[in-house]
Formats: sequence, C-alpha cells, structure tokens
Amino acid sequence: MSISDKKPLEFGGHSLVWAGDWSPKSARFAASSAHKAGYDLIEILIAEPEKIDAAMTKDLLAEFNLKAAGCFVLTASTDISSADKSIVKAGEELARQAIDKLAAIGGVEFDGPFASSLQPYEQPATKENRANSVGAMKRMADYAADKGINLNIEIVNRYESNLMNTAKEGLLYLEEVDKPNVYLHLDTYHMNIEEDGMVEGVLAAADRIGYVHIGESHRGYLGTGNVDFDSFFGALKTINYSGPITFESFSSVVVDPALSNALRIWRNLWDDSHDLAEKAIKFMKARY
Ligand code: MN
Repeated sequence: MSISDKKPLEFGGHSLVWAGDWSPKSARFAASSAHKAGYDLIEILIAEPEKIDAAMTKDLLAEFNLKAAGCFVLTASTDISSADKSIVKAGEELARQAIDKLAAIGGVEFDGPFASSLQPYEQPATKENRANSVGAMKRMADYAADKGINLNIEIVNRYESNLMNTAKEGLLYLEEVDKPNVYLHLDTYHMNIEEDGMVEGVLAAADRIGYVHIGESHRGYLGTGNVDFDSFFGALKTINYSGPITFESFSSVVVDPALSNALRIWRNLWDDSHDLAEKAIKFMKARY
C-alpha cells in the first residue's frame, strides 16, 4: 500500500455502547447518539446478517452523516479454523452473507476476530486448524475485494482464540494469507493481556494495521483501568496510523445475547451510554 492509499482517520463507536440489537428503534438510538457525541463511524455487529435491515441502516447513516464498519464473529458451528470441512464451509458462507450486508449498507471495513471462532479453546490450534483458516481467509479476501471491502482480523486474547494472540503472530498469519485487502485489527483490551507493552506490537505491525479498537482493561470507562493509552497512542503516532479508531465498551446494561455472553460481560461497568461515549471520544481525541 502506498502512502496515498491510506485509509481515512475516523473515530468510531461500537454499536453495543448504545444498543444490544439493530431493530429500527435501537439502530436510530445508536446512530443519533453516535452522531451527537461527534463520532464519524459506527461499528455495527453483523454476526447474524439477516437481522440487519440494509435499507433502513443506509438511510440512518445518511441522516446522521456516519460511516459504518461491520463487526463479525464466528461460533463453534461456523469456525473457519475447524478440522471439520463442513463447519469451515458454513463459516465462509456466513462471512459472505455478512460481507454482502456490509456492502449493501455502504461500509468498507469488515472487522473482528473471525480467523477462528469466539470461544475459549481447550487446546492449541493444530497445523490443520491453521491451514483451514488461512485457506478460507484467502477466499473470503477475494470475495470482499470484489466488493471493495477490507478484512481486518482482530487479534484477541488466549481465552477467545487459540490461533494467534499477538500482533507478531498476526503478521505471520497475514503473510500466509497474502492478500492486499487483509489487515490486522489491534485492540488495546487484548494487547493489555498478551503483548510486551503497548508499543512493540504496533511498531512491528505498522502499515499492516487496518483497524483499531480502544477498550479499557475491564471494558468500561477509558482511563479508569490498567491500559497504558498514552503509550499506545504514542506508538500509533510513530507509525503515522490512519484508519478507524473505534471505542469499544460493554456493560451488562446493554446486552446482545450472543456477543455479551461470549465476551463474559457479567457486570455493570456503566449505565449512561451518552456520558460514556462523550467522555470516550474526548479521551481519544486528546491523545490522537
Ligand atoms: Mn475488540
């Protein structure tokens, strides 16, 4: 990628900050709130593509002047790293439907930890698990490229994937996939668990970072946990990062039945989405 191809710098908010589903009422609340707080982009969970009304969503994005990113996760029955070829196939099919949905709402960035499924694995990944994931990802990348969509693979902690847990491991996976529209998606919440600090992984991945999640160590208010955000944003400046920077936070008061449980969101970290989102964008913009 040349400098002129850089992605635009956009501040995003994950839809789960405001709404646990994407019904017309919830979607309107999320989009209007994101706009009011000053966000450029809203990240919409497209784990169940049939539940997202593309026309309604497109209208809302236009009304509130927002871009959309699509967040995607797989389960055990759609795990593209499975040794069972029929499960891999089911995962690819679901991913194609989600990519189609993102294209239909006009989004460009597809993100999330979809190289494997979102679950606590009991064993390390085998060579076969990895080969199946890489093979599927190559085909998904070509499918997305035809629609002008980038795949940003989120690097998550050991309790949510056994395939890779650090930026450096992610780079090796990207090398195998070897597609120009596939990037790494780094998340401060996961980095805080797995990386050697908040700088090294960013510098190593550099221009292969295509998407960023800003999350606190307990997934609540930024600046109230253990993540060293000053070092992380400093590293983004060093690599001159440009692309989405999306605030991600979860509390037991806003629940998506599938995602909230998969992420072990058991406690109440906040009640007031507006206050949370307004403080988060100020926090991010003060540092980048
Ligand atoms: Mn994340």
